Order: sequence, then C-alpha cells, then structure tokens
Amino acid sequence: MKNLLKDLNITRTQNPKAKPDAATLGFGEIFTDHMFIMDNDEGRGWHDPRIVPYGPLSLDPAASVLHYGQEMFEGLKAYRGDDGTLRLFRPDMNAKRVTATNDRICLPPIDEEVFVEAIKAVVNVDRDWIPDYQGTSLYIRPFLFATEAFLGVRPSKAYSFVIILSPVGAYFKGGIQPTKIYVEDDYVRSAPGLTGFAKVGGNYALALKAQALAQEKGFSQVLWLDGIERRYVEEIGVSNAFFVIGGEVWTAPLTGTILPGVTRDSVIHILKDRGMTVREERFTIDDVYAAADAGTLEEVFSAGTAAVISPVGEMMWKERRIVINGGEIGKISQSLYDTITGIQQGLLPDPYDWTVKL
Ligand SMILES: *Cc1c(COP(=O)(O)O)cnc(C)c1O
Repeated sequence: MKNLLKDLNITRTQNPKAKPDAATLGFGEIFTDHMFIMDNDEGRGWHDPRIVPYGPLSLDPAASVLHYGQEMFEGLKAYRGDDGTLRLFRPDMNAKRVTATNDRICLPPIDEEVFVEAIKAVVNVDRDWIPDYQGTSLYIRPFLFATEAFLGVRPSKAYSFVIILSPVGAYFKGGIQPTKIYVEDDYVRSAPGLTGFAKVGGNYALALKAQALAQEKGFSQVLWLDGIERRYVEEIGVSNAFFVIGGEVWTAPLTGTILPGVTRDSVIHILKDRGMTVREERFTIDDVYAAADAGTLEEVFSAGTAAVISPVGEMMWKERRIVINGGEIGKISQSLYDTITGIQQGLLPDPYDWTVKL
C-alpha cells in the first residue's frame, strides 16, 4: 500500500472559487476547490487515489454508512506562518489514531504514511487557501465510510476515504473567553468496551442531546462523567479535560473511554518539560468540588485541535455553581495556548519536532 500514491491522479477545477475574507472566517462553513478520494473494495484493497474538484459524492441509498453508521473521521490543521511557511502539527499522531479507530469499527486499515502523504498532497494543491490572518488555519477533515449497497448487518465490503479542507477562523474571536460548563450526570458519552477512544460519528450523534440541553440552560458544553458510576471526570464536550489542583495537573487516563487527543498529549509533554506534575489518573467530580471548597482548584481547561486550549470559568453540578479563577483565563491555560499556537505558527522554536513543513 505504501506506493499507492505513485498513481495519484490530479484533476484541477475549471472553476476556482473566490477565497473568503480571512478576517471573518467561522468554523467549517467554507470548503476549498479540491478533495482527495480513494476507494476500497474487498479483494482489491485501496485503489484509485485521486484529487478532484470539491463537490457532492454519489452514494447508493442502501450504502451501509447511512443505516448502521460505519464511519470514522479525523481533524487536524495546516498553518501559515508569518514567514509564509506552511506547517502541519503532528499528523503522525492522527495517523496512529486512525489505525486504532479503524480496527474498532471494522474499517479497512490505512497505511499511516499513506494517510499523511494524502493530506500533504491535497493541502499542497489547495495551499493558497491556507489563510494568513492571526489565529486562522486550514482545517483538514479526513473521513472514511462504508459504501456497499447492502442492508445486512456485517462490515461493508466497500469503502471510500475522503479528505476535505476548510479555512477556519480563530475559535474565540477577540481573545480567549472562559466557558461555562454543565456537569452531565444523566446522559453518558462512553463506557468500558464502547468506542470512546475511537473518533467515530456515532460518539458525536449520541452526545448532541446533552449538549443541546446544556446550551438551553446557558452553558456552552457538558462535562462528561464515566458511564458506570457517573463520578469520574472524563471529557469536556469533544475535547480532553484538565484540572489544576494545588499546583498539580490532573487529566483522565487513556483507559479506552477517553479520546486520545493530540492536543492532550502535547499539553502533557509541555507541562512535564516545565517540571510540573501531571497525574493521568482517575479522579471524581467530588474531588473537583472538594478542591473548589478548599480553595485549591486553580484552573480548569479543555484541549483539542479546534480551540487548542479553552479555559473554563464556571461549572454547574447538581445546582452547585463554582467559579474558577474568578472566571478569568489562568496562567497555565494562557501559557499552554501561547506555546502550542506559537509552535504551530512557527513563532516559537519546535524543540519536539512536532511540525511538518509543506
Ligand atoms: C477529537 C477529540 C478530542 C481532541 O483531540 P485532538 O486530537 O486534540 O483534536 C477530544 N475528545 C474527543 C471526544 C474528540 O472527538
């Protein structure tokens, strides 16, 4: 499979679209001129890698993804530095996660090098779409889904893998805003044996209801507790959760219910490098509230590709409201944000060799 992209076929669009004004970009609303596609059939494996003009896909109404949800996706970004250099951030980590996700959801494996090379190829074709305005980037969305027209319940015998690209704006317009989080103790996102560690659409579909209810109550996201006892802290929305308690940083361990975020891993690396203690251990929502009562809950933040670091200013659990760091972004959250975005944009040195130049 490694040589697959030798035969990459590129068809350029005859009708390039106008580029958006980078200062007004939102998230995931605008797509570039091209996309990458390759197909997989039983017996034949991956074939026909191609870059074609962006446009609708044709799918049989019986395609199994539409009925049983056999699909996965990824998310990463390409950044344009002040010096014009284009960079990806740790795409090898996304490639590894694809391997784990595909195995869990019975999708055919994608060679990790091919995954990264396909991303580079399509981003290169649309490289003029990577915006240069402060805080903007090109969001890369690879996804893979079952296309066989068959209503029986078993893994599909045909798949497509597609990569689309979307120029996106800074997550927080006008600077980072601390969020309000609702601690969800009714609905759950994951449990041992389920798909919490895999990046699949099903995890998102089942989370929409709790998110919508929390938003109706004026919160931006939910904090998920574990699916068995509903006590252990797991994730915040679709990002990894961090708690600074008495000078130490706590985050849930990767035991299968948590999505192994690339941002999470980067945060842990940077904090340990600074000599801080990071505890990847289970801890409960009672621990968090006890720390708040004792005055030792210093910061709470979530970490993910979209917002990078998103500080939590307020939490509500069973009618108990706590305000964190006076509702302001904390020192650790701010410095992590500055360090990670600085490396991504080439403003800071990259001591970990995390960026890949395009
Ligand atoms: C994608 C995702 C994350 C964050 O992962 P990154 O690689 O840092 O973007 C965290 N939690 C969930 C549930 C996710 O889907």
